[in-house]
Amino acid sequence: MDETKERAETLMSWEENVRKVTPYVPGEQPRIANIIKLNTNENPYPPAPGVRKALEILAGNTDVLRKYPSPTCDQLEESLGKYYGIPRENLFVGVGSDDVLSMAFLTFFHGNKPVLFPDITYSFYDVWADVYRIPYKQIPLDENFEIHEEDYEIENGGIVIANPNAPTGVAKDRDWIDAFLSKHKDVVVIVDEAYVDFGAESALPLIDKYDNLLVVQTFSKSRSLAGLRIGMAFGSAKLIHYLKDVKFSVNSYTMNQPSLMLATESIADEEYFRANLEKVIATRESTKLKLKSLGFRFADSKANFIFATHPNKPAEEIMQALRAEGIIVRHFKKPRIDNYLRISIGTDEEMQRLVDVLAKIL
Ligand SMILES: *Cc1c(COP(=O)(O)O)cnc(C)c1O
Repeated sequence: MDETKERAETLMSWEENVRKVTPYVPGEQPRIANIIKLNTNENPYPPAPGVRKALEILAGNTDVLRKYPSPTCDQLEESLGKYYGIPRENLFVGVGSDDVLSMAFLTFFHGNKPVLFPDITYSFYDVWADVYRIPYKQIPLDENFEIHEEDYEIENGGIVIANPNAPTGVAKDRDWIDAFLSKHKDVVVIVDEAYVDFGAESALPLIDKYDNLLVVQTFSKSRSLAGLRIGMAFGSAKLIHYLKDVKFSVNSYTMNQPSLMLATESIADEEYFRANLEKVIATRESTKLKLKSLGFRFADSKANFIFATHPNKPAEEIMQALRAEGIIVRHFKKPRIDNYLRISIGTDEEMQRLVDVLAKIL
């Protein structure tokens, strides 16, 4: 008997008090050697060299681990504040942007009106809404995966937009976000910018204009630090204050000492960061041309992945055939997007191997 069936058949009375939820399913982290891993949008290049040096220093001084880390993430917040040119009162740091977004849902969406987000977007939003019992409504994107802003002009308790969107890669410019925000001043609007560094425009300059705007970013993709778990949010002092009140009511010491130290090193090396981004962007653009000539169709991505479909072969079959050749890409078994593959941008060599294998299996 499968586990779900067993649970349903023997419901004990204490189980009526359980907070039941269907969890988010993250992309696979296979423990197979020599695969080409293009399924979870990790950066193919290592983090800044200073991160390694800081790790070595830490290894020689493990005594720092004896003490609790700074609950207010002093060093990291200071370096982020300097880097982005904003005061600390406008800054929030969390355990990856998933933690930041989860805290933001818990803090800002506490009413009876539905929170709005696109039907095709980061598939964690509806899970957080479910777990925190937040009503929500998914607004359909059009057939080109574009947002129609007028669809959001309905009663709502908040809005979440990923920009560039995931898993489509479609980006809106800052003027569009500005015009959108000007119509939604009465609810908190979250702009999830997990991929913004790969060539989209950040809404960060708009936090002074709109005190209800929360911009969320991460070290996971553009800074090659998915394993460290660092994310951050920018917003008005009032917004950040509310967010910190909730965060400090759940867990004071979310950020561990090594990640605070290493993230600071990543911020310090701007040159490495820019060079890394340029490489990924150049590979993305050359991969677009190659996929196009193989017959793939996709929206123009500003992220470190391409969301592609092929007219002649079902996505799931392509995914299986790639897997048999040691290349892992992401397929979502969901309405409207089940004939698409989300292909992360790896190194030039990895993408050439992908293209060669695709040419063979199509
Ligand atoms: C990857 C991703 C995140 C979460 O990243 P973290 O590793 O938790 O920082 C958030 N939003 C979107 C749209 C993502 O793709």
